[in-house]
Amino acid sequence: MSERSSHYRRWLEEKEQEWEQRCRCCGACCGALEDPCEQLAFSETGAAFCRVYSRRFDEEHKTLSGQPVTCVPVRSKLHTSWPGDEMCGYKRRADQCSSGI
Ligand code: SF4
Ligand code: SF4
Repeated sequence: MSERSSHYRRWLEEKEQEWEQRCRCCGACCGALEDPCEQLAFSETGAAFCRVYSRRFDEEHKTLSGQPVTCVPVRSKLHTSWPGDEMCGYKRRADQCSSGI
């Protein structure tokens, strides 16, 4: 790998980390404040996590009341709204940025 591609790869990894760190792990985008996805769980510290994170897009899911859930990357939801989204680190950032994400 050339020095330039290695530098680019590091830059991408840093950007990905920055992006991931914006999440406040509230679970609202997975329905925490309404009808949660059945795969949504909370750690002892209260941080939301997905029980099937690595395969969340590959499987069909339901909410606790039995409604189908189409799991999509959060960036695909940023133009929509959901209960609790005013606390979402990605949406707050998008609101502050005039050019959007
Ligand atoms: S499957 Fe998707 S919607 Fe369900 S908890 Fe996991 S990330 Fe959230
Ligand atoms: S609503 Fe935003 S901050 Fe909360 S878990 Fe989803 S992506 Fe993370």
